[in-house]
Amino acid sequence: MSTPSLLILPGDGIGPEVMAEVRKIIDWYGTNRGLAMDVSEDLVGGAAYDVHGVPLSDETMEKAQKVDAVLLGAVGGPKYDDLDFSVKPERGLLRLRKEMDLYANLRPAQCFDALADFSSLKRDVVAGLDIMIVRELTSGIYFGEPRGISVNANGEREGVNTQRYTESEIARAARSAFELAKRRNNKVCSMEKANVMESGILWREVVQKVHDEEYPDVELSHMYADAGGMQLCRWPKQFDVIVTDNLFGDLLSDVAAMLTGSLGMLPSASLGAPMANGRPKAMYEPVHGSAPDITGQGKANPIACVLSFAMALRYSFDLGAEADRLEAAVEAVLAKGLRTADLMQADGGTPVTTTEMGDAIIAALDASL
Ligand code: NAD
Repeated sequence: MSTPSLLILPGDGIGPEVMAEVRKIIDWYGTNRGLAMDVSEDLVGGAAYDVHGVPLSDETMEKAQKVDAVLLGAVGGPKYDDLDFSVKPERGLLRLRKEMDLYANLRPAQCFDALADFSSLKRDVVAGLDIMIVRELTSGIYFGEPRGISVNANGEREGVNTQRYTESEIARAARSAFELAKRRNNKVCSMEKANVMESGILWREVVQKVHDEEYPDVELSHMYADAGGMQLCRWPKQFDVIVTDNLFGDLLSDVAAMLTGSLGMLPSASLGAPMANGRPKAMYEPVHGSAPDITGQGKANPIACVLSFAMALRYSFDLGAEADRLEAAVEAVLAKGLRTADLMQADGGTPVTTTEMGDAIIAALDASL
């Protein structure tokens, strides 16, 4: 395969702070693992608005379409709150997702042993947890027509949204889930509400068909999404990959995320169709926002962004062993008791800064050689 190309978009607030730590890790891989990467950097969000008057310039969009992966920090902040909706920082992010057609949103819920006490669930329920939720991202009830608020025949206002899925939209989300499962523990659980929704009946049929025709060796089960929510809190370790629609995925991925503790720990990936070189269109980003309350104070936890880069190694560059190495380095640092402020327990200790956390991860990478 050709040299992997990566476009870095640090964005606003703590985005540039956490991304600076990832840059150190990218350099480490170049020096110590011979991983040549074609890395470029550009503006998104408020930072792009300040320079170009738009939250994502056409040139940056074009670059994003050409690279193997985009790594984004975060966008937004109070400075931009009063801007017109059309140029708000978040519009830059939405444009990237839409024009790259990133239809599969991957949200891992992984609980590092050292942080198991952070969860609101009991330690033995979450310790060692490693599941992946695949949420369909570009269709379903958030996009379906008709939609809107109108006055009905009785003179009463009514709000309408439409859940709509085509077979091909379901099939491509299912394929993403099965492909992921093959690299993990080979199990997919599909969630919908086939008991009360026709779109759920179609969802279940299409997922089953894709399985039977293309992935018969992957273990597939189906679950109603409400029961799935319950099972995620009761015994989440029963799952490997969960695939679900846009609405249920929105809810279930937040539930799963909170099993693991802090927002500063959560990576994500959004994948689209394979490009000519076989790599999927891809954008990786931490789940958290720009955290204006801690910007510039050295308090940001860089781990969500670091783990997003680990996902890029695994899913865009096919470097699963190097992704394992980086995740193990994060685990080792946490096991030593190093914590940024967001990970401190009420009983105290001294938090490390963003830079110190990045340096500790580099030291753990050194130790892995
Ligand atoms: P946020 O995620 O920025 O922050 C929520 C809370 O979590 C804050 O107290 C923050 O300090 C803390 N936090 C978040 N990330 C952290 C990290 N890495 N380390 C330590 N603490 C962390 O959400 P918000 O405050 O609701 O939004 C702030 C801005 O970010 C808004 O403009 C919002 O629109 C934007 N936003 C952007 C994205 C994105 O870029 N994907 C996502 C969510 C929110």
